[in-house]
Amino acid sequence: MPLQDITARIAKAEQAAGRPEGSVKLIAVSKVQPDERVEAVLEQGHRCFGENRVQEAAGKWPGFMERFNGIDLHLIGPLQTNKARQAMELCHAIHSVDRPKLAKTLARLAQELGKCPDLFVQVNTGEEEQKAGVMPADADEFIAECRALDLPIQGLMCIPPVDEEPALHFALLAKIAERNGLKGLSMGMSGDFESAIALGATHVRVGSAIFGERVRPQG
Ligand SMILES: *Cc1c(COP(=O)(O)O)cnc(C)c1O
Repeated sequence: MPLQDITARIAKAEQAAGRPEGSVKLIAVSKVQPDERVEAVLEQGHRCFGENRVQEAAGKWPGFMERFNGIDLHLIGPLQTNKARQAMELCHAIHSVDRPKLAKTLARLAQELGKCPDLFVQVNTGEEEQKAGVMPADADEFIAECRALDLPIQGLMCIPPVDEEPALHFALLAKIAERNGLKGLSMGMSGDFESAIALGATHVRVGSAIFGERVRPQG
C-alpha cells in the first residue's frame, strides 16, 4: 500500500479519536526489506524508520544517512547489552528497554557519550514466555528504576500476542503509562494501527503495509 494511503489512514484515525492531526508518529519498519523499497519511501520524503536488529541497521542506515538528511531511526527489537553502544550511536530512539542490566548499561553509556536516545520500556502485556518485555506487574518498579538512573524514558511499547484481541493489550499499556505519568505509547502494527491510535498510540510501527510482505520472514 502506498505510503500516502497509510498516512491518510493515520490522519483519519486521529480525527476519529478526537486527537490533533500529527499527534501520531509513523515509524516505517524497514527490517529485511530490499534497499530499493526503503529508498523509494525516503524519496517520498518520509524520514522515520524502524529496525529490529542493530547489526542490520548498522549495515543499512549509515549509507542512507549520508544521502538523506533528517533520518530518525528507531530500534524496535531486542537489544543485547554488548550492542548497546552501537545502538545508541546510531538510533534516535530505542523501544526495547526491558531489564535492569540493560538499563544500567544504557545509563553508563549515556554518561560516556554525553547523549541518549529517547527510550521506551517494553512491556510483555501478554505475559508470553518467549517474548521480551517486563511483566505488567513489574512495570512500575522497573520504570522507577530507569528514572533513578536518569534515563530519558518517553513511554511504553508492546507487541500483543498474535492470537489475542490487540485492543485489550493497547488499553493495558495505556493504563500503565498513565499511572506512571508517561506520554509515549509505541503500539500498533500493520494490522491494528487504527485501533492503537483510538487507544492513544503516539508511535505506530508499520512494516508490511507500507513495504509489502517481507522477503524473509523475521520476528
Ligand atoms: C516487524 C515489526 C513491526 C512491523 O510489523 P508489520 O506487521 O509488518 O507492520 C512492528 N513492531 C515490531 C517490534 C516488529 O518487529
